[in-house]
Amino acid sequence: MRELASLAFESNDRDEGAPADPRSPHPKVLPDLPAPAPSAAWPPADAEIFEALQRAWQDGSWGRYEGPHGDALASALRDMFRVRHVLLCCSGTIAVELALRALKVGPGDEVLLAGYDFPGNFRAIEAVGALPVLLDLDPQNWNLDPDQLEQACSPRTRAVIVSHLHGGLVPMDRVRTWAEQRGLSIVEDACQASGARIEGRPAGGWGHAGVISFGGSKLLTAGRGGAVLLEEDASYQRAKVWANRGNQAYPLSELQAAVLLPQLRRLEERTHQRAAAAARFWRRLQGVPGVRPLRNRVRDGLAAYYKLGMQLVPEELCGAEREVLLERTRPLGLPLEAGFRGFALRSRRARACGPLTQARLAAARMLVLHHPLLLAGDAAVDRAASLLAEALRSLARST
Ligand SMILES: *Cc1c(COP(=O)(O)O)cnc(C)c1O
Repeated sequence: MRELASLAFESNDRDEGAPADPRSPHPKVLPDLPAPAPSAAWPPADAEIFEALQRAWQDGSWGRYEGPHGDALASALRDMFRVRHVLLCCSGTIAVELALRALKVGPGDEVLLAGYDFPGNFRAIEAVGALPVLLDLDPQNWNLDPDQLEQACSPRTRAVIVSHLHGGLVPMDRVRTWAEQRGLSIVEDACQASGARIEGRPAGGWGHAGVISFGGSKLLTAGRGGAVLLEEDASYQRAKVWANRGNQAYPLSELQAAVLLPQLRRLEERTHQRAAAAARFWRRLQGVPGVRPLRNRVRDGLAAYYKLGMQLVPEELCGAEREVLLERTRPLGLPLEAGFRGFALRSRRARACGPLTQARLAAARMLVLHHPLLLAGDAAVDRAASLLAEALRSLARST
């Protein structure tokens, strides 16, 4: 047990594996620098990112409002997501609000949203003056359930926000068909799902507006940042006008764009690595009581794991709820945490559609494992799985 407990998972220690001394007067002598340390830390210490930083220093773009890096990033994202327009901005949170504005959602409108989601999405709906309408989740994967959409609708419904959370994927073909019949707009939040595919199409590219995040812990990171992906010229114009009012109110910098470009090139490879690691993790947990994977029901899907979500099943753990398990796993250094807290389901600030049974369960019982572990190699994944298995088995034995 002591040996297991001594397993140190890398933290987000920023100095670890830092590829260069930023004060060096000659940063271009890359070959003389130590290679980035292989580690589970995030952000990744890729040599290509260091080179991009050097180039931004050399060409002075790091200090400009606009330039070649932002243009190249927008163009690469258009290709990757197969969308017509990309508006770069300062965060995924703002990108959701811009998406709603782009789709002309405003006061008096209702926007459908899963009863368990990123809290900022609820607030983005409020920020544009609309009312959130909460609907329940698919019991299999604790993500938005397309079967709930129809009954959540009212004559005021204008749009739906669909997030792919914790490795879960929502069947977007069904959402899209339904929304088109109804004449409603879709905002697809792929902030946790960069690199994921649904029916062969990139997650984020299905909606009338898609949203991605470049926040400091995300799968593509520039510390901060985001983008809105848009289909129609008019929506793109509206989003741009709002984002540029006054001065540019929500910019992404050239320096941020510069470090994102090389990450895009490695995304596909890393998405597959993380998916393989997630599958390996679950194979190691087979037959262990108390947790279940999120099961996706999409054809030709590839999940992206910003977090690896798990459904806790207290019935198999002598009734032990999430906090009891986390108390045991925290000292082990496992990167395991509770999911989102969930919304106040009976508040006046929202309309709830039905009892939201699964959303309540998800808020109380979702567990998430943070993604850097999934690139840390088989041994680290196996050790994490056995630490968790040990903790779960001991809870199942206790009375
Ligand atoms: C992180 C996240 C966001 C917001 O992104 P930021 O860039 O951190 O503002 C939105 N939605 C989901 C599902 C997220 O996980």
